[in-house]
Amino acid sequence: MTRNVDLVIVGGGPSGISTALHLQAIAPKLSIVVLEKATYPREKICAGGIGARAFRLLEKLRVEVDCPKVPLDAIALRLGGETITTRSPGLGVVVRRVEFDHALARQAIARGIEVRDGCGVTSFAIDDDGVRVLTDVGETYACKAIVGADGVGGVVRRQAGFPQSELRAQVVELDTEAVARDEPRDTVVFDFDDQNLHGYAWDFPTLVGGKPLVCRGAYVIRNLGHDDVRARIDAYLTARGLDPRSYRHKQYAERGWEPGVEIAAPRVILVGEAAGIDIATGEGIGQAIEYGAVAGPYLARAFERQVFGFSDWRATVERHHLGWQLRIRHACYRWFYGPRRQTVERVMPQVPSMFRVAIEDFAGVPISKLALVRGAGQFLAAVAREKMRPDD
Ligand SMILES: Cc1cc2nc3c(=O)[nH]c(=O)nc-3n(C[C@H](O)[C@H](O)[C@H](O)COP(=O)(O)OP(=O)(O)OC[C@H]3O[C@@H](n4cnc5c(N)ncnc54)[C@H](O)[C@@H]3O)c2cc1C
Repeated sequence: MTRNVDLVIVGGGPSGISTALHLQAIAPKLSIVVLEKATYPREKICAGGIGARAFRLLEKLRVEVDCPKVPLDAIALRLGGETITTRSPGLGVVVRRVEFDHALARQAIARGIEVRDGCGVTSFAIDDDGVRVLTDVGETYACKAIVGADGVGGVVRRQAGFPQSELRAQVVELDTEAVARDEPRDTVVFDFDDQNLHGYAWDFPTLVGGKPLVCRGAYVIRNLGHDDVRARIDAYLTARGLDPRSYRHKQYAERGWEPGVEIAAPRVILVGEAAGIDIATGEGIGQAIEYGAVAGPYLARAFERQVFGFSDWRATVERHHLGWQLRIRHACYRWFYGPRRQTVERVMPQVPSMFRVAIEDFAGVPISKLALVRGAGQFLAAVAREKMRPDD
């Protein structure tokens, strides 16, 4: 039997649910169905760090995600043997995705959105009248348009013939007890000390079944070089007096957003990690929620006009704060992890106001103009000092 609905969203992670919530808030009469192949509560390999910006977006819809959270008040960067800590109370939280995603989906369900879990999309076909979506439980949906919110290895991107993206990261994580050299539990740590790592290691405070632990991991950008991500995290643990063999390693990929790469086709748009997230840090939950905040009004307009070409979806994302953030971080990643790494290490401690701006952006608070001007001044002064340095 075929069911007729207006829109099918493939994937019930943060980008899919956020898209459904934002669209329904503007166009409550549309029939939206979110198809999620796993059954909630479902695990997603992820460290769970989320900037307060994402919660501010959800608050605008009066959505409160009711799940355990570790509050964050500081970000520490380990770089060139130094630790640079920037404090900014309430800047974000750390969650467990098994709890967070379920709580977010419950919010959508409570608002009357149909979230069908345990129902994976196997294929779809597009014609002039709409899209026919087939699932692994034998249900078929006929709709006007489809949203690919199905993550890094999603079927929508593949089947719609979007180009294979180049920008991928490999990530491995595990949960351990705390050690003496850990920062306080209100601080997330990004550790760039290993100059040979094309990425970074992290320590995030986390709560596993109510027990305070530390989620540690290594993030490696694949197209910058071939790192054995698992060996890296093991070395990182060993340096902290932890035995890597005692912990369950969880490994997964991430897809970075790439400028100019298409994320829409007639009747199909991609959001969240299906489209691409921040490659510089691998941050993707906040971006996934923000994709939804952009997609909601965009789709509402498409339904109002009954026009589903979606040729301006990429430009719409790029004009939004999300697009600016993705662009800036994309521009930074080669500089940060590339051959000029030692210069970066010297410059970074000299630009504390830039960190302040980045953290304000993460937290979704208005960016302080003073910090912006100071940051630019600090940066120019640091670059001038670099130019005067004798060659290494
Ligand atoms: C190890 C690791 C650590 C990370 N840590 C962080 C972090 O600390 N902070 C941060 O912001 N980001 C982090 N990320 C990135 C973040 O997890 C993702 O960017 C984010 O989950 C993207 O959300 P999404 O909704 O687009 O996709 P997903 O969360 O991947 O959701 C996609 C959903 O689609 C479903 N699906 C897939 N195929 C189908 C199908 N055929 N039919 C139906 N449903 C389907 C999946 O089951 C899944 O539920 C991390 C990633 C990794 C790998």
